[in-house]
Amino acid sequence: MDIQTLNKSIREKSLKKLENKTAQELSASWSGEDLLYSGKGNAIFIILPTPGCAHALSKSGGCTMCSYIADSPLEAVSSHELVSLFKNNLNKFDIKPKTVAKIFVSGSFLNEDEIPKDARDEILNLLNKEENVEEVVVESRPEYVTEGTVRACCSLIPDKIFEVSMGLESSSDYIKEYRINKGFTNQDFQRAVDLVKDLKTDFKVTSKAYLFIKPILTSEKNAIEDAVASARYAEKVGVDRISFCPATIHKGTLMEVLWRRGSYQPPWIWSVLEIIRRVRSSVKIPVIMDTAGFGTRRGPYNCKKCNKKLKHMIIQSNLDQSIPEEFDCECKVNWEADVEYSDLTRSNVNLTDRI
Ligand code: SF4
Ligand SMILES: [Zn+2]
Repeated sequence: MDIQTLNKSIREKSLKKLENKTAQELSASWSGEDLLYSGKGNAIFIILPTPGCAHALSKSGGCTMCSYIADSPLEAVSSHELVSLFKNNLNKFDIKPKTVAKIFVSGSFLNEDEIPKDARDEILNLLNKEENVEEVVVESRPEYVTEGTVRACCSLIPDKIFEVSMGLESSSDYIKEYRINKGFTNQDFQRAVDLVKDLKTDFKVTSKAYLFIKPILTSEKNAIEDAVASARYAEKVGVDRISFCPATIHKGTLMEVLWRRGSYQPPWIWSVLEIIRRVRSSVKIPVIMDTAGFGTRRGPYNCKKCNKKLKHMIIQSNLDQSIPEEFDCECKVNWEADVEYSDLTRSNVNLTDRI
């Protein structure tokens, strides 16, 4: 069975089990410290429910590690409702100077079948009135990054940075196709980045690459090498920022099925640190490491003694873009063995139990 057929059948089963939640229940927001292009500041995150990521709903079943589709009511959400959910969430915050607004739609903000144009325009108009918002960050697959759409968005927030974040995941087209089922290639990604670069003469527009750490069927060693190579590629192509997403096991995905059968394990936090060190010492653009799920059963894990400490160190290093200090723990030798022998054993899981 090929990966797409398997992926699609797992996706269909998981969609059948989904509890029906209303758009209101699925929308969420929170705030926190973040790194802006102008330095340390604040971020507000707003999640908006949409009919669901077009790629996840397509016959390919979407990406092998992603269950964002579970955050969707799987039916049309009217523009009126989307805007009112956005407004209610935005109004919860006392927006401080130096704020970035991040809008997550569990799919593509620039796909008008997911976020209708009138809702998109109204959301950007609302943000334009917030003088403390310096940056507006949205996510999109490259196929929706068209000149007309990006121009239309930028012209509604002319004094703010508009960032288009795209899930490149890996610079290897082989990994994208056979391990992630991404549905696009480096060429598609490059076209979208070039388009953003061309619009920089008219607008404050930037692009960001999300890179995924340790797709399925990937050894610990290859996961590190792929992440470092992908960051160098993304910088070379011309993105303005990189955000790494180390794997966490989402429910209802092919990744979860392999994990349950003992054929996949998320990366060690040691691997994540190694990636930060190598990338920050060779790449000039800002590099953020997401720490969601660190130290949990379904996320990147070292041992109970050092998980929290390293997570905290990484969060701090994101804010000042520093290279985390050397650190030691008794679990490190197990990681070293996993990296050294993972190619030999061709294993995607670890030789040693994590404690
Ligand atoms: S990672 Fe992005 S493109 Fe892939 S299924 Fe999830 S939301 Fe869709
Ligand atoms: Zn440890």
